[in-house]
Amino acid sequence: MKINPIKKHLQGCAIAVLVLGGSCGFALAQEAPLVIKPLNDKLHVYTTYNHFNNQKYAANALYLVTKKGVILFDTPWDVTQYQPLLDSIQNKHHLPVIAVYASHWHDDRAGGFSYYEKQGIPTYATTKTNGILREKGLTPSTHEIELGKTIRIGGERFVIDFVGEGHSTDNTVVWFPKYKILNGGCLVKSADSKNMGFVGDGNIAAWPESIRTLQSRFPIIHTVIAGHDNWQLDGAIEKTIELLNTQ
Ligand SMILES: [Zn+2]
Repeated sequence: MKINPIKKHLQGCAIAVLVLGGSCGFALAQEAPLVIKPLNDKLHVYTTYNHFNNQKYAANALYLVTKKGVILFDTPWDVTQYQPLLDSIQNKHHLPVIAVYASHWHDDRAGGFSYYEKQGIPTYATTKTNGILREKGLTPSTHEIELGKTIRIGGERFVIDFVGEGHSTDNTVVWFPKYKILNGGCLVKSADSKNMGFVGDGNIAAWPESIRTLQSRFPIIHTVIAGHDNWQLDGAIEKTIELLNTQ
């Protein structure tokens, strides 16, 4: 396993703080492995990082605070952040995570199923996603998602929907009707994307139609969260269409 320079720096930094009491605060804040940003007082975007083809990418996911507990939408991409995410949520909201949903079968979405199941947290994926997970010898969810059904819990509600194939054949989106926020997952590219990313398990030919279906099913979206990189820029859906047009 290669040690990347950032981790090396962080290790050195932590030692420096311990031994010398010096401050590496700025560098640590810049390179935090888990970043949580609120969209409102209930919905939060959390970001973890990993490498693909030797390049560092951010993976964005969401969690929803309800009166009954917190619901995770996708597991961290960085496996070292499975537990820190639970701890951060407990510290911030004084609530446990009560369910984990995955938007498709890849490890930046469903990779934490086994870990969270071991913590006694119910995990959720579609029949299709579980079929692929089983086929690949990966851990499926403990429960299955009913697509298109409004799930109400602790004063909040959300819908998991499948609008067609794209980044993967099983990619789903999450709609939060109260806030008109859409968790696009990997079906939606961020506005700063340079290319379509990894499409080896996907369906590029079907993707444009899937985006059209998405737009007609959710005509008014206040905020869309892209699966990777800068989710705070406007124009993610438009960028996805633009990139698809160049394929
Ligand atoms: Zn993926």
